[in-house]
Amino acid sequence: MFLITLPDGNRLEFDHPVSCAEIAQTIGPGLAQNALGAKVNGTLCDLSTEICEDAEVKLITARKGEKESDPDALYLVRHSCAHVMAEAIQRIFPGALLVYGPPLDTGFYYDIYVPEDRPISTDDFPAIEKEMAKIVVEDKPFTRFEMPVAQGMEKLQGEGSKYKIDNAERAIAAGSDALSWYATGIPGENWEDLCRGPHAPSTGRIGAFKVMSVASSYWHGDADSDRLTRVYGTAFIDKKQLKRYLKQLEEAKLRDHRVLNKQLKLFHIDEAVGQGLVLWAPRGAVVRKELQDFIAEELRKQGYHQVFSPHIGKLGLYRTSGHFPYYQDSQYPPLIHQEQMSRMAREGCSCSELANNMEKGEIDGYLLKPMNCPHHIKIYDSEPHSYRDLPVRLAEFGTVYRWEQSGEVGGITRVRGFTQDDAHIFCTEDQVAQELCGCLELVKIIFETLGMSDYRVRVSLRDENGDKYVGDPSNWDRAEEACREAAQTLGAPFTEELGEAAFYGPKIDFIVKDVLGREWQLGTVQVDYNLPERFDLNYIGPDNQPHRPVMIHRAPFGSMERFVGVLIEHFAGAFPTWMAPEQVRVLPISEKTSEYAQEVIDKLLAMKIRATLDDSNERIQGKIKVATDMKIPYLLVVGPRDAEQRAVSVRARGIRHDLGAIPLSDFLETIGQEIQSRGKITVISDHFETVTA
Ligand SMILES: [Zn+2]
Ligand SMILES: [Zn+2]
Repeated sequence: MFLITLPDGNRLEFDHPVSCAEIAQTIGPGLAQNALGAKVNGTLCDLSTEICEDAEVKLITARKGEKESDPDALYLVRHSCAHVMAEAIQRIFPGALLVYGPPLDTGFYYDIYVPEDRPISTDDFPAIEKEMAKIVVEDKPFTRFEMPVAQGMEKLQGEGSKYKIDNAERAIAAGSDALSWYATGIPGENWEDLCRGPHAPSTGRIGAFKVMSVASSYWHGDADSDRLTRVYGTAFIDKKQLKRYLKQLEEAKLRDHRVLNKQLKLFHIDEAVGQGLVLWAPRGAVVRKELQDFIAEELRKQGYHQVFSPHIGKLGLYRTSGHFPYYQDSQYPPLIHQEQMSRMAREGCSCSELANNMEKGEIDGYLLKPMNCPHHIKIYDSEPHSYRDLPVRLAEFGTVYRWEQSGEVGGITRVRGFTQDDAHIFCTEDQVAQELCGCLELVKIIFETLGMSDYRVRVSLRDENGDKYVGDPSNWDRAEEACREAAQTLGAPFTEELGEAAFYGPKIDFIVKDVLGREWQLGTVQVDYNLPERFDLNYIGPDNQPHRPVMIHRAPFGSMERFVGVLIEHFAGAFPTWMAPEQVRVLPISEKTSEYAQEVIDKLLAMKIRATLDDSNERIQGKIKVATDMKIPYLLVVGPRDAEQRAVSVRARGIRHDLGAIPLSDFLETIGQEIQSRGKITVISDHFETVTA
């Protein structure tokens, strides 16, 4: 007798071993029909898995026509589809050997060895898909069978694929006491693959699929090893879901900040300067500056002080902070004084001796700063502090340098030199909670202004095993509670992750979803009990005794590079007017109105609005096209009648037709308000209420 507990708390009693499929059947025929697999005590399993003791069982289901499917259901379908694709490829490409084929968040891939004389290319996709469709239509069951290790290895040796033998050896080394296969159909008769599973019950459950792309890869990811072909595919519960996904991919491609940058000319990355080192072009610099000014304005309101610090610091400083030598792999190498270099070269000193001497502090040098904290600490520590001065909040858009293994080519979301929206708060234990709330308030204001309402928060806390953390446990308890409470005040969904805190303090991370539903991890707010200790920071308390302040590091948007990269994709390059590199373009219809056009421009410029005049000989339609491609918020077309009436004919970005003429003075007033209010008031909503719908 044993009990199966269902997610709703209901229990089923059985007196004989029962499969997950039978459990589904017991609950109801509809469920059984939609079931793809099950989670047994949290582990994803085949529907055929038998249970013979107390267990918690959640059936994984998917129905055609549902908008979004359970990720576990998609996992099962995709893993199953990887098998179907592999079978199809082996039918078409004789000599193809399978290596490894896992599901992914967006689909699956299979690494395959194919003989050099018959490579797989995109031209082969239709044939592969056709063969896959045949297998799906046949609705063959995925049938699991197992063998003890010795017998299983014998089978694999007989088949002779070194890749599968290697997979099996790894599984055995990791503790497997049996090897399992999945046949697509009947074991011994049909196609099969060494596989741990789980799978959907049959090929017919793959509702829609597509072979996506092909790339080359290496066995074990090792460039000296066998060259393999990685074929990517995706699968969904039904065709509608697949179609939606493909459309989203198209949209993402159009919004790719590297692609948009080609027309918008915001930044440049030049191999001659270095990979991952961003050059901000004039238009991009405007966007960044506006964003920085906006953040700085909010920081001023919150009582922050702006500071500046140099791009390098002595090695000794980073020895104290702990950044050197421990994080050497992720930093640019240190800068060493010329004299010292020459002397060591004369003495025939090797590189390893040099590194050694530097680590020990026998040679001094400088480091390109990987963090702004030590500099800010020295500013705090440059004068004595009383508890009355606290909190001290020091802010800097500080540029730091990190040696990322691969600087993303052509993009600004993964770079090697970046400017953090950094600040450090030095406060008393009692002030931590309030300061955290302030940090999150700022995040809320900025996300709201940018229309990024869909974000979530991750709170990283200690795990049970408390001895690896610095600082007093009761202070940790308070700081963790403060993180939790601050996260709650945002009103955004948040998760708590035990054991994810750094050894020096708990933290809050921000993950924002863009319009396409993609998630971007931005910055963090972090409590720190460690650096104040390492730098021996103090303040004088009401008891006239020295006390240790707590530090809060906060760079909620991560870096200006990454944030602007995310914003380019979020807005698809169509920045709100206050951020737009060019806010207005004036387009005279002909030379007859150029004098009036100049007057319009002069008035815009006098209001510090970023406006340009297109007085080229191009026809008006051509001028509109060029300006539209640059995603300029407002185009003012001026013709003789406008000049006569002292009006402008407005074309607003995103609205196809001309909005009609309004008096110039009205336009100037409202666009001024639009910029000032950062979009709370807009020219469109103020003058063209009826048109926007
Ligand atoms: Zn498999
Ligand atoms: Zn810091």
